[in-house]
Amino acid sequence: MSERPDVLVVGGGVVGVCTAHFLIERGVRTTLLERGEICSGASHGNGGWIFPSESAPIPEPGVIRKALPWLLDPESPFWIRPRASLALLRWLWDFRRACNANAVRESFRLRRALSLASLDRFTEFAKKMDFDFGFTQRGLTLIFRTAKAMRDAQRDVELLEAAGGSAKWLGVEELRGRVPSLSADLAGGLEFPDDAHLTPDDFVRGLAADVARRGAAIETHTEVLGVEWSRRGPVRVRTTRGDFRADEVVLAAGAWTPELTRGLGLRVPVEAAKGYSITVERPEGHPDLPLALVEGKSFVTPMGSRLRFGGTLELAGLDMRMNQRRVDALARTVRSYLPGLPRTPTVEIWRGLRPLTPDDLPILGRPAGTSGLILATGHGMSGISQGPISGELVAQLACGETPEIDLAPFSPDRF
Ligand SMILES: Cc1cc2nc3c(=O)[nH]c(=O)nc-3n(C[C@H](O)[C@H](O)[C@H](O)COP(=O)(O)OP(=O)(O)OC[C@H]3O[C@@H](n4cnc5c(N)ncnc54)[C@H](O)[C@@H]3O)c2cc1C
Repeated sequence: MSERPDVLVVGGGVVGVCTAHFLIERGVRTTLLERGEICSGASHGNGGWIFPSESAPIPEPGVIRKALPWLLDPESPFWIRPRASLALLRWLWDFRRACNANAVRESFRLRRALSLASLDRFTEFAKKMDFDFGFTQRGLTLIFRTAKAMRDAQRDVELLEAAGGSAKWLGVEELRGRVPSLSADLAGGLEFPDDAHLTPDDFVRGLAADVARRGAAIETHTEVLGVEWSRRGPVRVRTTRGDFRADEVVLAAGAWTPELTRGLGLRVPVEAAKGYSITVERPEGHPDLPLALVEGKSFVTPMGSRLRFGGTLELAGLDMRMNQRRVDALARTVRSYLPGLPRTPTVEIWRGLRPLTPDDLPILGRPAGTSGLILATGHGMSGISQGPISGELVAQLACGETPEIDLAPFSPDRF
């Protein structure tokens, strides 16, 4: 224990809490600082999918052309708030550079490796933890309205099959046999049988409680205001509850991470990509499978007695305002795919900020020229899917072990 560093993790989302878990597993003295409650950021109201089969990144050839008409439509699933921001312009430039077929192939491989490694860990957690987080491996089903979207998806199926994964095309009757509330006006479906889903809050809060029982200090309502550094490492972490000290600081503050690195002169190209979800009471027997509504760019996930719909991607900075038109458009889209879904009471309307990098790969590692600092952010649409392995890779790095997955492609210096 005495040779292990003291580690301070900033951020109580899936990435920070998984990091704390794998540090505690290694006997590291661990403190986690969270400015609100555990799981109050993007990790709270998301879709809960673990989806190694759907590992294609957001930047891909043709995506900019496809997205352009949406930018003018305030109800579209993708929107960028126009603003004079050099950081946003550089981010968009890097995004454009990532839109090529070679980058997509490599990114698919890397993202799938992270998700598969996380899926193994979730399976272990489900076996050994004494809390239930609704882990269910019943696959993920994509629903298509048009034959064109099905043809477009064929490229992802080829990438998946080349990587050893499997997928099954489904006809409309078969789909409606599985999900009777679906519309008849569909082109077909695609099943990824290996994927899984869970209730994200139950997982992150359950794991944080377990980590606390095993000795980590979980400090909620503790906002980090700044980190002071000397050449030899972190000197002090200033917070709203006084100063903290540690040998290593892991910044896992999701979309807010760039705010914490600004004072250090580091460029961390993470844009906040806002998404919404609506959680309702699940009508008896209605969708018990997670669904991706492909053209509607939205998802439906059963979570125990609840059902969650979500989607949209809005690059609007760190803006937590709720856009009611988008929420209404999301609800209409979901109902158009599932007209047979009975109306039930709403449990929560939510928005969250995904921490999105321009190449849609996370940032995991030590920035060049720093010591005692590890970044763990940028998980975009896939933080649940990639959270456990990210936490373990960071813990391995902090403890001087060789990370089991090469961290070079996730380096903070790659941009
Ligand atoms: C609508 C929607 C659907 C999604 N669906 C899925 C899905 O199905 N599967 C999937 O894998 N991913 C999904 N995601 C993405 C996923 O939610 C994120 O990638 C993931 O939650 C990011 O986790 P995080 O720990 O990095 O960030 P967060 O969960 O945002 O955690 C960061 C934490 O840091 C804290 N913090 C920030 N600043 C400070 C500070 N100064 N001091 C102290 N604490 C601070 C915040 O309060 C927050 O709790 C979805 C996201 C959205 C919005």
